[in-house]
Amino acid sequence: MSFDVCLHISDALGRYGFGPGHPFNENRMDAFWREAQRRGLHQQVEVLETRPATRAELARFHHPGHIVRVESLSMTGDGYLDQGDTPAFKGVFEAASHVVGATLDGLARIMDGRVKRAFVPIAGLHHARPDGAAGFCVFNDCGVVIATLREQYDIKKIAYVDIDAHHGDGVFYAFESDPDLIFADLHEDGHYLYPGTGAASEQGSGPGKGKKLNIPLPPQTDDKAFFQEWQRVEAFVREAEPDFILLQCGADSIRNDPLTHMGLTPAAHGHVAARLVNIADELGHGRVMAVGGGGYDMTNLAEAWCEVVASLVGNKSS
Ligand SMILES: [Zn+2]
Repeated sequence: MSFDVCLHISDALGRYGFGPGHPFNENRMDAFWREAQRRGLHQQVEVLETRPATRAELARFHHPGHIVRVESLSMTGDGYLDQGDTPAFKGVFEAASHVVGATLDGLARIMDGRVKRAFVPIAGLHHARPDGAAGFCVFNDCGVVIATLREQYDIKKIAYVDIDAHHGDGVFYAFESDPDLIFADLHEDGHYLYPGTGAASEQGSGPGKGKKLNIPLPPQTDDKAFFQEWQRVEAFVREAEPDFILLQCGADSIRNDPLTHMGLTPAAHGHVAARLVNIADELGHGRVMAVGGGGYDMTNLAEAWCEVVASLVGNKSS
């Protein structure tokens, strides 16, 4: 039996977490997967193991110094990988490499036509910079996917859409001047939330000017207000006619997340994924990859990501 969508789940992927007292802990993948099985989604997708990314793959986006530093702190598990949000743990290099490896495997399957769409729950680590970790993000799988599309598949025009509560600064600044990286990010206003960036005035620089759409939203933004702003994102992406769509569907933009102040419901995530699938199908290639991103309330992330997977499968159209 062949499926349109692949989904990566593995013990190695589930080990990407910073301990039981940390919001980004090792329970997140299982919380999602239990709910996916309860809804029968596991029978509608191709479920795959993960592999670690190679150092050469990581180096498509990251500076060698960062890769070596993560590898070294991974052996002792001591200290922090950034200024204090992202603690090292034993095996962090392997776990973070599996996050990137899973996205690259999903990408390869989309690009060679085995599937049309892919979902990786523990991925979308959009704060990591080329030269360092940040905000619970060790390696930026989104950045590696974008670089790989260019280097390995000759795909230039890519739409990156981010509905995580936090601004996707690691992706934005790395590709700020890139005219072919169409960037659209709806996030809680940086005046109230980490990392503080993503003002509406940040529209890209140099040749990338006008190719980035940052939409800061006030705290408590609900589905109704979100959907109004979403229209702008949809028009922006549609007009660009991207050859690939990457969705970072962080679930921390849903109400009652312990780290943010947003007011969406999981239906917003399902709607966004369905609309992007629609655009990709209209463009004729159908290529959409979704990565889980943040989300620190286990019920919220399980429900939001299941809504996204259902939309990727095509269980709903809106
Ligand atoms: Zn987030």
